[in-house]
Amino acid sequence: MIERTLSIIKPDGVSRNLIGAVVTRLEQEGLKIVAMKMIRMSKEEAKGFYKVHEGKPFYESVTDFMSSGPCVVMILEGDDGIQRYRKLMGATNYKEAEEGTIRRNFATDIEKNVVHGSDSVENADYEINYFFNALEIAGR
Ligand code: ATP
Ligand code: MG
Repeated sequence: MIERTLSIIKPDGVSRNLIGAVVTRLEQEGLKIVAMKMIRMSKEEAKGFYKVHEGKPFYESVTDFMSSGPCVVMILEGDDGIQRYRKLMGATNYKEAEEGTIRRNFATDIEKNVVHGSDSVENADYEINYFFNALEIAGR
């Protein structure tokens, strides 16, 4: 099934000049970028984005991190897009991520793990609409 998923190159990825490296990996995997922009989230906007994690011990820290600098947000599209992109990212903790995944190759920390990806159809829908309006999404 063709799915859309939300990808973010997190502030560590942008500040370490990894935008091109990440985009190359997405394109090599055959995922289509159908929308893309650079943004800087406020603390409140980061809290809204990671609302599902409210109350968890890392919530304050990860929302500080996500609002600490610019991010690149993208909508990716492809067959089985959500799971394929999750697999390409690798596990949350880069030390447990499979060889060859983006996090294994580039992450430096369990929090500063370079990329975000939606984990379900419902969350992808919420996250895409959180960042993009219809005019910003390219047709195919
Ligand atoms: P993401 O949602 O960013 O794609 P994920 O789905 O692999 O990552 P989640 O459990 O949703 O992982 O956690 C969201 C983000 O919060 C993680 O990517 C990471 O930046 C941070 N995080 C998660 N667990 C921890 C932790 N134990 N300590 C510090 N930061 C964490
Ligand atoms: Mg997640």
